[in-house]
Amino acid sequence: MTLNRRWVLARRPVGQVGLDDFARIDAEMPVPDLAKGEILVRNRILGFDPAQRGWMDKGAGYMTPMALGEPVRGSACAEVIASQNPAYPVGRFVRGLFGWQDYAVVARAGETAPILVPEGVQPEEALGVLGAASLTAWAGIKTVGGVKSGDCVLVSGAAGAVGSMVVQIARLNGARVIGIAGGTEKCRWLVEDYGAEAAIDYRNEDVAVRLADLAPDGIDLFFDNVGGDILEAAIGHMAFHGRIVLCGSISGYNDEQPSSGPCNLSRMISYRLSMQGFILLDHLDQVPTASAELRGWLEAGKLRYRTDIQHGFDAIPATFLRLFTGENQGKQLLRLDA
Ligand code: NDP
Repeated sequence: MTLNRRWVLARRPVGQVGLDDFARIDAEMPVPDLAKGEILVRNRILGFDPAQRGWMDKGAGYMTPMALGEPVRGSACAEVIASQNPAYPVGRFVRGLFGWQDYAVVARAGETAPILVPEGVQPEEALGVLGAASLTAWAGIKTVGGVKSGDCVLVSGAAGAVGSMVVQIARLNGARVIGIAGGTEKCRWLVEDYGAEAAIDYRNEDVAVRLADLAPDGIDLFFDNVGGDILEAAIGHMAFHGRIVLCGSISGYNDEQPSSGPCNLSRMISYRLSMQGFILLDHLDQVPTASAELRGWLEAGKLRYRTDIQHGFDAIPATFLRLFTGENQGKQLLRLDA
């Protein structure tokens, strides 16, 4: 019998997610008596996203909550090992939400279709620089934010998978960019590698004081991955008619009780600010255009990126927790051992 190793959601986290919220419960490998259209995949690399924390909660979100006792929902790049679907030949790689397990039967009727990884694209790139985080960055800063030449753009979570792409896409569109990240090393990447004009280390500096210094005329466009105090500081330094794009609010994902929120929302009125949240899933029609542009920049050497690759099935839950301590050094991935 071939085992399907699985990390399942053992209980819904209360507050800070921890290792005890997950349990290792293996099962038998799915037998490949596939229905027409289905494929059997073997996960090779997993990708980690802070949003998985929200999917673990019971309340209403933009996706159905993860089921208890089932493999944790998460993205993966996998090899097709059996196929009843000519669009997914055996040996090709696909990506999708295949979960924290070795094997999955996917492309079932009514489910989101897996994305075929183009020939020549490595699995790490498919989940990393050409994956959902970069597409989120592209749709968020271009379509939702409407970035334009001359904008003064502020990005929080700027050294991460989404943020580092936002910084570079904004710069490639002629904006001047200020990034916010935790620690001197990540701030160094922002300026030296990703081309931000300046970086603010929110762990060691007063964000409001630095913003007043770096952007005396105000921020035109703020791309927020973090929420909380950083959002409040940004609202306090927006320019007239400034735009705020809410992509994520990781600072609150592990809060047991929601915080009371920014205390300075009245500035939205006096400064005629706009604030819009978005979800990548609403912009899937733009994926071909975004992917082509990202690939073009990558091939032209205009995009820099980092992937942080951990190893081994046992390390999956601990790897997820790295997102909430800032230990991840770029897009967090994990390569599964054989
Ligand atoms: P990252 O690669 O940026 O990893 C998470 C980072 O968040 C950490 O490295 C850490 O960076 C920072 N962080 C963690 N805790 C805190 C905290 N309490 N306060 C401030 N910063 C913190 O993750 P992603 O790029 O994948 O995701 C970034 C955001 O984008 C998330 O909020 C995510 O949910 C959101 N997202 C939204 C999508 C959408 O469709 N709207 C799609 C995909 C992602 P540091 O070391 O700098 O503190």
